Amino acid sequence: MSRVTELIDKLNEQKHLDKAEWVEVLENFTDEDREYAAGIARSISLGIYGNKIFIRGIVEFSNVCKNDCLYCGIRRSNTNVSRYRLTDDEIADCCDEGYELGFRTFVLQSGEDKSYSTERLCGIVRRIKAAHPDCAVTLSIGELEYEDYKALREAGADRYLLRHETADKAHYEKLHPAEMSWQHRMDCLKALKDLGYQTGAGIMVGSPYQTVGCIAEDMIFFESFKPEMIGIGPFLPHKDTPFRDEPKGSYELTLFLLSLCRILLPDVLLPATTALGTIAPLGREEGVKAGANVIMPNLSPTAVRKKYMLYDNKICTGDESAQCRGCLEARMKSIGYEVAVTRGDHI
Ligand code: SAH
Repeated sequence: MSRVTELIDKLNEQKHLDKAEWVEVLENFTDEDREYAAGIARSISLGIYGNKIFIRGIVEFSNVCKNDCLYCGIRRSNTNVSRYRLTDDEIADCCDEGYELGFRTFVLQSGEDKSYSTERLCGIVRRIKAAHPDCAVTLSIGELEYEDYKALREAGADRYLLRHETADKAHYEKLHPAEMSWQHRMDCLKALKDLGYQTGAGIMVGSPYQTVGCIAEDMIFFESFKPEMIGIGPFLPHKDTPFRDEPKGSYELTLFLLSLCRILLPDVLLPATTALGTIAPLGREEGVKAGANVIMPNLSPTAVRKKYMLYDNKICTGDESAQCRGCLEARMKSIGYEVAVTRGDHI
């Protein structure tokens, strides 16, 4: 038994490692250790969720953003982006189409676009919930104030995805311009939890300036915050950002972290992300085999998909929603899993 497998066992038993132990695991793991963690993680997710994979249809309803995150392709200073905004009717149509395809969760994602007022967003949430009362609505629209989150929750939003990006404040400041605040992002996450949202946090693996110490802090943050969902994907450069020449994140480390998250928080909802499917052709399948249990295909209109490019070479931007749905079904079948037609709430 290697020292790393010992620590993986300890994590599995105690659901806790200290910072030095996390660093030791992250600095020294081998492919065998990774396989070892994946085996434990997969049996945990099979035990809790069976061989069912939850699907969430993402509607990327606007690529307009007031923020200037250094890693993101739709940052406001990227003048090469052709900006779009979907109308309320278009958003509702995407969800209706998704419903027919078996989606029971709709994720509304966008840049931070203030032309969608909280009142308008509440109307959109109410409309989707009225049309599909058996569905969950997840928002992924960035940082708002407590009162906005509260109004959206009261309008019927069930879940919220807001990656913390990094638990290390100094690291956060290297990824974002000075006008953005790590503390505010953390306060938003706390507000979302307090309001009863099933809340998702998460990171990019291999973002510029990230150290194993940063990732250790992320794992410690996950342990204390206990997000219902964790979004983890590799950092991938975008050609029109200041990070264009930075190396992409590690595929293997991303898979390993998915397994460690599953072991740390056994019932967490853990997507095999689009970025993971972009960095490797079978990335999402491998993600599921490493302990992920959620896939989030795109429901955006084909006409806008190429305009929502957070990073280069994003997959599935040429396909119809129905094609994506069929493709995923086949991909999951190929590894012995089934797509579930349910809301797929956190238990
Ligand atoms: N504006 C919203 C949601 C859209 S971005 C928000 O701020 O929450 C969704 C996620 O995509 C981000 O949280 C980030 O972690 C990820 N992302 C952005 N640019 C990326 C890149 N270049 N490579 C990999 N992931 C990226």
